[in-house]
Amino acid sequence: MRRKLAAGNWKMNGLRAALSELEALAPTLAGEAEVLICPPATLISAACETAPDGLAIGGQDCHPKDSGAHTGDISAEMLKDAGASHVILGHSERRDDHGESDADVRAKCAAAWAAGLTVVLCCGESLTQREAQDTLDIIGGQLAGSVPDGATGHNLVIAYEPIWAIGTGLIPTLDQIGEVHDFIRMRLERRFGAGVGRSVRILYGGSVKPGNAAEIFGVSNVDGALVGGASLTAADFRPIVEALN
Ligand code: PGA
Repeated sequence: MRRKLAAGNWKMNGLRAALSELEALAPTLAGEAEVLICPPATLISAACETAPDGLAIGGQDCHPKDSGAHTGDISAEMLKDAGASHVILGHSERRDDHGESDADVRAKCAAAWAAGLTVVLCCGESLTQREAQDTLDIIGGQLAGSVPDGATGHNLVIAYEPIWAIGTGLIPTLDQIGEVHDFIRMRLERRFGAGVGRSVRILYGGSVKPGNAAEIFGVSNVDGALVGGASLTAADFRPIVEALN
């Protein structure tokens, strides 16, 4: 059985005052779902100190190297040292803003695994790619290119995030979500074997809100969500977690 996961991606949002939102998630933590918040790097240490028991904290990126002359970057080991247990990698905003390729994401993933972090690895198509009916090819290519050998149900979570659904209020139909999640499951099983392939969790991300979470979670092979805007306040995120519990 795969444990459901509700993951919040705060992106470049959150000053110290926002840490009070973590405490307000405490009532959701007794349920079945694992709950993860990925605040900006400046808040990770403080988040780990103030988070209620059972709330996991993660980073939003890491450098592929352990240390060295890389101004402004953060290594996987530093995230781990700050108390993080997870890291989001390959988010479409990083692929766009920082030109990250599949090979870059793969190297970061290997570094994160070496540091003992669980990777939430993002994939997703643009609207143009969907309209050209290239979605499954794009996702298959991203999975093959971004995920190193050595995946397990513990060290890897996949997040399917259609780029056109992120922050837009648009979501794919439930059939479209199911098609991609089933495809990702099939690819994971084919590459890593049925045992591992069935144990890796696959999250949906892109405009998940309290009002649409339950129906999305009802789709086959949807093991939870990666949530941006609606993870910034406990008032919005709590009902999403509760829809998984
Ligand atoms: P959103 O972002 O929930 O604000 O659409 C999701 C994400 O980018 O992870």
